[in-house]
Amino acid sequence: MLVLGHQNPDCDSLCSAIGLAALFNKIGRPATPVLQGEPNPEAQFLLEQSGFPTPEIRTSVAGEEIFIVDYSDWGQGTADMKKAKIRGIVDHHKLGDITTSEPLECWIWPVGCSATIVYNMYKFNNQKPDADVAKLMMGAIISDTVNFQGPTTTDIDKVAAKELAEIAGVADLAAFAKAQFEAKSDIASVSAAELILRDQKVFEMAGEKLAIGQLELTSLETAFSKKDEMLVEMGQLQADKGYHSTIVLLTDITKLDTTALIISKDADKVAKALNSAVVDHMFELPGVVSRKKQIIPFLQEAFEA
Ligand code: MG
Ligand code: MG
Ligand code: MG
Repeated sequence: MLVLGHQNPDCDSLCSAIGLAALFNKIGRPATPVLQGEPNPEAQFLLEQSGFPTPEIRTSVAGEEIFIVDYSDWGQGTADMKKAKIRGIVDHHKLGDITTSEPLECWIWPVGCSATIVYNMYKFNNQKPDADVAKLMMGAIISDTVNFQGPTTTDIDKVAAKELAEIAGVADLAAFAKAQFEAKSDIASVSAAELILRDQKVFEMAGEKLAIGQLELTSLETAFSKKDEMLVEMGQLQADKGYHSTIVLLTDITKLDTTALIISKDADKVAKALNSAVVDHMFELPGVVSRKKQIIPFLQEAFEA
């Protein structure tokens, strides 16, 4: 069985795939974690810290048995995922559009991170992750919950991260989180084209496609210096793909605020749905850090009204 994260692999999509495959191997269900692309720099940092080898990249899963982690939408899977047998889903997002022809094992909880669920699957099976895998899963929880400051954080996440840190032998979680966030904030030499795609997800709302990326950074200074280049790349992507909107959320994880860049057929509609107003392809979202909880539901409401 393959355990497959979503497109544009982030920490959770990488670490939960590794964690879940390792659990399955412990309980006699042979499994291999696979990625749909290169892990992002923060996920790379976690691989380096844990010493775990980078999983194989697979963009085709036709004919395979698969378990998917950190999504439940066809759009975030491989193009041929409908030709695979989906045996299960672990996720913490809103329920997507995946349906199956056979029963499947679903672990979908409203918590801050898929790795939190995977850790509880270990407990359910009376198992414990190895130290390297525990460190990866701990890092995923730090990432997805923005070090427990984000609005999706639950006590279940905090308990899981604390226990995983003990297993991993990480004494100072705050120091680990700081180094991890510095790794993802180092964008000076990253091209604008790469930045806008780094954590991009495409959402369908009332027949329109909205591509929404997010950069979580300890300071927005460098991102602002690349603003014009990013807007050019976003305009290009928008024209190529026919999106309704192309958005990049620049999230300051120190101040817990977001500034959005937007190219759109109707930017005012998007900004208004989020109680903001566009000035020069930009709008402010004070206090916003979570795309899934503080952005998507409001856009969906505005588009599907
Ligand atoms: Mg994810
Ligand atoms: Mg996640
Ligand atoms: Mg994320």
